[in-house]
Amino acid sequence: MTLTEKDSQYLWHPYTQHKTSQTPIAISRGEGALLWDENNKEYIDAIASWWVNPFGHSNKFIADAIYKQLTTLEHVLFGGFTHEPAIKVAEKLMEILPKNQQKIFFSDNGSTAVEVAIKVALQYFFNKGEKRTTIIAFENAFHGDTFAAMAASGISFYTQAFQGMFIDVVRIPVPVKGQEEASFDALKNVIENHNCAGFIFEPLVQGAAGMVMYEPEALAKLIEICKEHNVLTIADEVMTGFGKTGKTFAMDYVDENPDMICLSKALTGGTIPMAITTFTQEVFDAFYDDDINKALFHGHTFTANPTGCAAALASIDLLQTNEMQANIARINKSHLEFQSKIENHPKVVTARTLGVIFAVEIKSEAEESYYGSMRTKLYNFFIDKGVVLRPVGNIVYILPPYIMTDVQLQKVYKTIEEAIVMV
Ligand SMILES: *Cc1c(COP(=O)(O)O)cnc(C)c1O
Repeated sequence: MTLTEKDSQYLWHPYTQHKTSQTPIAISRGEGALLWDENNKEYIDAIASWWVNPFGHSNKFIADAIYKQLTTLEHVLFGGFTHEPAIKVAEKLMEILPKNQQKIFFSDNGSTAVEVAIKVALQYFFNKGEKRTTIIAFENAFHGDTFAAMAASGISFYTQAFQGMFIDVVRIPVPVKGQEEASFDALKNVIENHNCAGFIFEPLVQGAAGMVMYEPEALAKLIEICKEHNVLTIADEVMTGFGKTGKTFAMDYVDENPDMICLSKALTGGTIPMAITTFTQEVFDAFYDDDINKALFHGHTFTANPTGCAAALASIDLLQTNEMQANIARINKSHLEFQSKIENHPKVVTARTLGVIFAVEIKSEAEESYYGSMRTKLYNFFIDKGVVLRPVGNIVYILPPYIMTDVQLQKVYKTIEEAIVMV
């Protein structure tokens, strides 16, 4: 049996209708921005394997750090114990995060980073004896697949089977260009009419919605409105963090600071699953009490796994090198050139770029659904050409590893241009 045949016998894949989906491709190795399947066909990984892999596959520097940690202390429970790798990650993050972030809490994926933030927002008011139970989120947001994260997510087919079983979430429109006032007004209206505990948002770029972008000034205004009403703000930087937007964090573009930040995906350079939620001292202090009931009773077995911490430290070291910063700037410049080249194409609705993130919306006759026919046609075309891209409906986006070469990048652009003509 081939790997693919064995796979279909045993495995259940994410976001997959196994009856109608195509068989998965078995990847046997990766290096830099490239992947090879079991038949040795080569693919360019143009979406950094779901946005986790900025420094390339099988990165030796991170692998060495992981090996060293594995043979020193692979894991120890974090209840009642601590260790240097966790402390070093905290110190490093304090250097690079917005200055008001003072405490960090470890978990192991983006959804749990969000879950922790939402639970903290709700318990913060519980601990203060204030009844605030509503969470505010954007339309078409994506914050993950655990229950509170799912409740905050606004993409309906991810969540429709569970409607009626969620915590209270009220949605406001995204302040895309021209719609800012509607978003501000909606926020004020929600705050006036509900007991709001927190506002969670993907800063500047909504990833899963199809790389929908909005301006830092609009986000600053929304945060300001929340602050006026003592509503806690949660920046979900799970996708945008660690250089994707051209700065270390998307919040680095924004004049207001959030109360909490969620991190995962590129945190460990796409090696070991790990996540972090960060907090202001003020949030932490609402749980700091002689009364044990005010503690945050939340934890995961693999909390602060030392090996994950070592991977995170090595990744942040790589991100901070001049070489990596130059790569990010190079890709951004290249994206902008490609954008101006194709945005006037008759089959293009719009194109947009922020940092290494590029998206182009292709004209379609029908309203394109997330996993609609145009999406399938595009996806298959890209795979056939040896380029890994996962369109969202009629939106094709690129989120390359920062080490992708110019030659590889040009091949990705060329393939997208061909696809636009083809569909
Ligand atoms: C991917 C993502 C999540 C969920 O992370 P997982 O590790 O898949 O659970 C949460 N928020 C945002 C913005 C994401 O892009």
